[in-house]
Amino acid sequence: MKIGNYELYSIETSEFGLDGGAMFGIIPKQVWQVQAPSDKLNRINMVTRSLLLVNEHRKILVDTGNGTKWEEKYKNIYNIDTDRYSIERSLGKYGFSAEDITDVICTHLHFDHVGGNTKIDSGRIVPTFPNAKYWITKENWELANHPSQKDAGSFMEDDWKVLAQNHMIEIIDGRESFIDGIDIYLTYGHTSGLLHPIISDGSNKLFYGADIFPLAAHIPIPWVMAYDVQPLVTIEEKQRLLPKMQYEKWILFFEHDPLIQACTVHQDGKHYKMKDKVDISD
Ligand SMILES: [Zn+2]
Repeated sequence: MKIGNYELYSIETSEFGLDGGAMFGIIPKQVWQVQAPSDKLNRINMVTRSLLLVNEHRKILVDTGNGTKWEEKYKNIYNIDTDRYSIERSLGKYGFSAEDITDVICTHLHFDHVGGNTKIDSGRIVPTFPNAKYWITKENWELANHPSQKDAGSFMEDDWKVLAQNHMIEIIDGRESFIDGIDIYLTYGHTSGLLHPIISDGSNKLFYGADIFPLAAHIPIPWVMAYDVQPLVTIEEKQRLLPKMQYEKWILFFEHDPLIQACTVHQDGKHYKMKDKVDISD
């Protein structure tokens, strides 16, 4: 799919699973398991899906997934599996390599969004994208380096320490556009200063849902994750975004839905829901 002067590609980087109860907050299991069946450990199937934006000057990756630095214990807890999808294979499918990437936009520094920023090579942690600038908001950078007890488990400094040592990180305010043709929307319900890229032209507008719309099942306003630091703020943010998304026919991109890359939304009875499925890479 092309928007403006960017060609868009959906880049699946891993499969994994998180506890369904944590993923759907106050929604009872009887209700959420119809949309997202769980395994015997109550984990639901998810993926990490990055968005690649390519124009004649840049190859920009939005988030990098779980990566491959995992110890066996955590790999088992989160059911992380790169047999089916990996960053290298998904980029390779479209003729790109890690060395081609000029920019990595980190929506926020949770491990399932930036684990692939770095990798282990001959026992050392090194940048996965040696020629890239990694863009991060100041607010999320500060939180990641001084997390609370609620979100400390979601931040792992191995995902960014070597990048900082190599001066590859660009800390941004996030209130103004920093790459041509990409607008920025910030949210605060899931984590502080979460950066949602928006790519638009006269006919299409794509919003990167990140963790306020992780799966298509999270479109209805009260379907909010228990991981969120301020769930009531997430609700307000969804309340503000969804009418605009419906009216202006935005394409909502899902980073974690195992089956749906993106969709348009509409109000269907009491709740907003998926309208039409959109395949980015077609
Ligand atoms: Zn997150």
